[in-house]
Amino acid sequence: MTKVNTVLGTIPAEELGLVAIHEHIGYGMPGSELDSKWWKTPEQAYEETVPKLRTFHENGGGTFVDATGICNGRDIDYYKSLSRKTGVNIVACTGFVGGDTALPHFARATVDYLARVFIHEITVGIGDTGSKAGIIKVGVSRGGRMTELDKRIYRAAARAAVVTGVPVLTHLAIDPEPAIAIFREEGLPLDRVLFGHADDGLNAASTPSEMIMGEGGRIGFDTFGYETELPDPPFWARPRKDRMDHFIDLVGKGYLDQLLVSADANCSPLGWPGVKGHTVNYIFEVLIPDMRTNGIGDAQLKAIFEENPADFLAIQA
Ligand SMILES: [Zn+2]
Repeated sequence: MTKVNTVLGTIPAEELGLVAIHEHIGYGMPGSELDSKWWKTPEQAYEETVPKLRTFHENGGGTFVDATGICNGRDIDYYKSLSRKTGVNIVACTGFVGGDTALPHFARATVDYLARVFIHEITVGIGDTGSKAGIIKVGVSRGGRMTELDKRIYRAAARAAVVTGVPVLTHLAIDPEPAIAIFREEGLPLDRVLFGHADDGLNAASTPSEMIMGEGGRIGFDTFGYETELPDPPFWARPRKDRMDHFIDLVGKGYLDQLLVSADANCSPLGWPGVKGHTVNYIFEVLIPDMRTNGIGDAQLKAIFEENPADFLAIQA
């Protein structure tokens, strides 16, 4: 039986249910926790977060994958209490959102050291929480090209993925050639990698999604809901119809099994106001109905939200 690490323990992949593959309990830039302007009491954080996760659960959501890196506000004991309160499985990650969010302690580390950190967090646990990471996060720093540090983190992640069988999830899928080369050199099959943010308004045009899927990788349409229709859209927003047309085009070309979908929302943002009006529940409130209107049927929805994520998250023994 295939297994997945959640913050409350290892469960069969068959029990994940509907999965939101790239979300955040709370995401902030490293150091935002030191800025007193943004401090929240535990009560405020719970008040912002618990209703969203309860609604997710009531809507039929089973599993919430928290793609927050080591330095961006990851808080495992808090996730455990949220999972207990709401019944939602939470998968936590090891790794970093990008080289540019790795604090100096990690930024100066060797590939070998970073790989050992990731492997420890996956196989032994994250600190003294007793929880094991279920995915490895990596990413491309701001600037559109992979930096030397990004590449070091990707290589460490690839080694950890090969040793542990846990998959890799990327922030951004631009400049994928060096990433693909590293994964190949380290012997990691590309179906163990979800190349994320292939759909956002800033990067979609320069992301070679079909090339990546042609090489065997998976593609994340994981910023659904960050759309220009919002009252105050962020710079990475995209018109709703554009994104859906792009998605439907790829489904029509036969890529359904390589596509993963999410909303990349923050339950309770850290050090920034977040994007008003956007939550993980966009998946139920807008996205699934919109997909149905565009001809996506029950079997395809099951593939997108249950089968593909279970296949991806399942630890390869
Ligand atoms: Zn994210």
